[in-house]
Amino acid sequence: MDWADELAARVSGPQVVNDSKTPSGTVHVGSLRGPVILDVITRALRANGRETTLLYGVDDMDPMDAQALLTPDAIDREMGRPLAHVPDPAGDCHASYARHFAGVFIDVFAGLGIHPDRYYWMSDIYPTGAMDPYLRMALDRAALVRDIYRRVANVQHPDTWHPVGVVCPTCGKVGTTIVTDWDGEKVYFECRPDLVAWAHGCGTSGWISPFGGAAKLPWNLEWAAQWSLFGVTIEPGGKDLSTAGGSRDRSDAIAREVFEREPPLNVPYEFLNIGGKKMSTSKGRGAAAHTIAEVIPPEQLRFLFLRPRPNQAIEFDPDGTDAVPRLFDEFDRFAAATAGREVKGEIPPGYDATFRYSLLDPNADVAAEAWAFRPTFAHLALLVQVPGVDVGARIEAEKGSLLSDRERAILDERVAAARAWLEGYAPERARLAVRHDGLPAEADGLEADQRAFLAALADASTSEPPSGGDAWQAAIFAAATAADVPAGRAFAALYLAFLGRTNGPRAGWLLASIEPGFVLERLRDAADARPPTVGGAS
Ligand SMILES: [Zn+2]
Ligand SMILES: [Zn+2]
Repeated sequence: MDWADELAARVSGPQVVNDSKTPSGTVHVGSLRGPVILDVITRALRANGRETTLLYGVDDMDPMDAQALLTPDAIDREMGRPLAHVPDPAGDCHASYARHFAGVFIDVFAGLGIHPDRYYWMSDIYPTGAMDPYLRMALDRAALVRDIYRRVANVQHPDTWHPVGVVCPTCGKVGTTIVTDWDGEKVYFECRPDLVAWAHGCGTSGWISPFGGAAKLPWNLEWAAQWSLFGVTIEPGGKDLSTAGGSRDRSDAIAREVFEREPPLNVPYEFLNIGGKKMSTSKGRGAAAHTIAEVIPPEQLRFLFLRPRPNQAIEFDPDGTDAVPRLFDEFDRFAAATAGREVKGEIPPGYDATFRYSLLDPNADVAAEAWAFRPTFAHLALLVQVPGVDVGARIEAEKGSLLSDRERAILDERVAAARAWLEGYAPERARLAVRHDGLPAEADGLEADQRAFLAALADASTSEPPSGGDAWQAAIFAAATAADVPAGRAFAALYLAFLGRTNGPRAGWLLASIEPGFVLERLRDAADARPPTVGGAS
């Protein structure tokens, strides 16, 4: 996590951090890694005393090119028009398709503690004339632009191709037009029926002024022009854009050679792979940001993105696995280490920065946050399944004192996440059905050594029942050792006695979630239910 602080120490002078996005549809969780990195860079710069502006652009003059969200009758009319000119498909109060979907990602960013100083909309900027100098430069240097595409990306445009897209004055489409000439004031454009496969132009052609919002730059040039217009100094880019000859290389070359400005510092970042699939574009289950937010609260989601360095891919498979509980456990370990507590296992250097940057509030009291009591996720996932349990009271008992308001909020957030996890993601073994009605028939299969272990655990727990999951876990291991039973067989005995199956969630937490009197009674029942077939274990 030192990377952001290292970067902040490396630069000098005021900084402008920028990113932009085409508001074309649902926000997938993988696409949030960039904004989180952007936010952390901004926080690190400010913490290092650099005056920093965080900008976020909405590329809403990009053409509509995905028909999935359009009604059939709207497809022919809307495909190829700027997103800012396509009506809101949701039919609610937004002025356009672009405003609706940008609204979605702006809300998601805010929920993650990402608050750019300013969102800028390209549909607002072009009409002001602010982009006109860049349109003019691109047109004057069209041959150079064609040469850059050929050199950097091996893309050969015809000699008549000019790097400007006119918004057709007849049909309003920008994705269907091509400019073939430029006289210093006007461009010659054609709106071609067959320029692209996904939209049909109307056939209009003629001379038109490209200025004041009548035309836009193609993406690579628009990107480079944004850097000049806003004085961008740092812009992280996804790995898909940062490949050799890819979009970033093209825009870097255009910035240097056409707009004559050094491009911003790139911080290339890798993808988040969910269940082996690259999630930045996939539409699979659990991919939409608002879906994943139900099960991973914002600070843990920031942590998921920030724990590895940006250039490391993240593998995350929440479906039917313990990935979500493990993420919480890791977060809690980082919190504990930041609080100066001893933690189990290795913890990477810079853990305190990772924890600090995972917090929603950049001005949070980091020490207080690190010390806050956080109930173990797996424990909560059990507790919420036990009928009649007062989860708050149980957690306060575990903490040994009343929860603060902040700790109560953390608990509430985790309880909601645990319920969502159980409902949508948890593996079957995490679903708890304690057989309260009587010793499960499956417990008949318990063998002598397992019964001995159950009896030993009952004996050890009678005078002073363990309090909390960790204490129960320790008691289980001690009783297994005392009865000379391998841990695996000891756990299986507990699952058979309480759940009627041979596997289950962490046994210590399972026992901690059940009423202590019942635990002892069941341990003895299971130990005594049948006379041991070999020896006199109990
Ligand atoms: Zn809307
Ligand atoms: Zn047209």
